Amino acid sequence: MSSDNHKRLVIPGPVEVRREILEAQTAWMIGHRSTAFAELFARLQGKLKQAFLTQYRVIVSGSSGTGLWEGASRNCIRDGRRVLHLVGGAFSERWADVSRLNGKDVDVIEVEWGMAHTPEMVADALKKQRYDAVCLVHNETSTGVTNPVQAIGEVVRQYEETLFLVDTVSGFLGAEFRTDEWGVDVALTSSQKAFALPPGIAFAAVSDRVLARAKEVKNRGYYFDFIELDAMLQKNNTPSTPPIALMFAADRQLDDILAEGLERRWARHLQMREMSIHWAESRGMGLFAQAGYRSPTVTTVANGRGIDVDQMAKFMSGKGFSMDKGYGKIKGKTFRIAHMGDMQPATLEEVLSGLDEFLGVN
Ligand SMILES: *Cc1c(COP(=O)(O)O)cnc(C)c1O
Repeated sequence: MSSDNHKRLVIPGPVEVRREILEAQTAWMIGHRSTAFAELFARLQGKLKQAFLTQYRVIVSGSSGTGLWEGASRNCIRDGRRVLHLVGGAFSERWADVSRLNGKDVDVIEVEWGMAHTPEMVADALKKQRYDAVCLVHNETSTGVTNPVQAIGEVVRQYEETLFLVDTVSGFLGAEFRTDEWGVDVALTSSQKAFALPPGIAFAAVSDRVLARAKEVKNRGYYFDFIELDAMLQKNNTPSTPPIALMFAADRQLDDILAEGLERRWARHLQMREMSIHWAESRGMGLFAQAGYRSPTVTTVANGRGIDVDQMAKFMSGKGFSMDKGYGKIKGKTFRIAHMGDMQPATLEEVLSGLDEFLGVN
């Protein structure tokens, strides 16, 4: 592999993928109806269940995370029933759109960008209206906010008919996440964020409650029909041709992740969060995300010094790093330092000293 134009990715997805993981994709191809594939699938399933901390099943999807948004919305919300979306940034906004575009009746609790949702907000809403599902983004990548999934889960759990659907695309395997213990019915994620795999494969832990619900939903669609995906999964297979090369990579990456240990991996991310927060504050810049809810995987710096983010990114590119310049409507007013996946504190140190050099701080 040529390394001439390699820029290390410090953007919040796709993230840097280690060479061993890239190379795992180059194993000889196998047919997805072969015994070798069934063995791969079964092996992967065991490791995924350990990673999600679930006793149920983990659907493997040849799509990005967006596809599983559609799957979760379609399988969990019956005709004539409503879904509650907790919106506080670009991704949570988009998931609500996905539900609407699939014909679902959507209510929204919107918080200002940079703020977290609270269990009280959800408790109030559930007292007033019955919902088939509550949809929450664990880690809002656009703002750098991590929502209190566990506390909100405790509220949702009190309502028998309400499923708790959580997007942990940029949190999973970076920020603490406990699917079953926190009462999460669907936990969905992509490969290219804190999982540190190439893009193109997505995963969703799905509870038995979800499958029971899905049976009551008429138009589940085809590609993301959880009933069909589960039926094939029970045979260590998939309904259509899966991204086999990415599954080789996931198999290898999960070995390394489980060897590191989930708790140690979460702690490493918390350490990088503290480094980033300390850097921003000591350089006279604020943090965009509300205190107490700042993400372990991505720090959104409030650009209090009014630095030119394009110039900053250009400077950092000269140092071999690809940097973010802020997202959507907060671009320029903020920029994000992603510290997720297999990034080590020593690499983040290099990034922060590069930024210091740009700022002229020593
Ligand atoms: C990146 C991201 C998505 C979209 O995932 P894709 O894999 O790009 O489809 C959804 N939610 C969050 C929180 C994200 O960060």
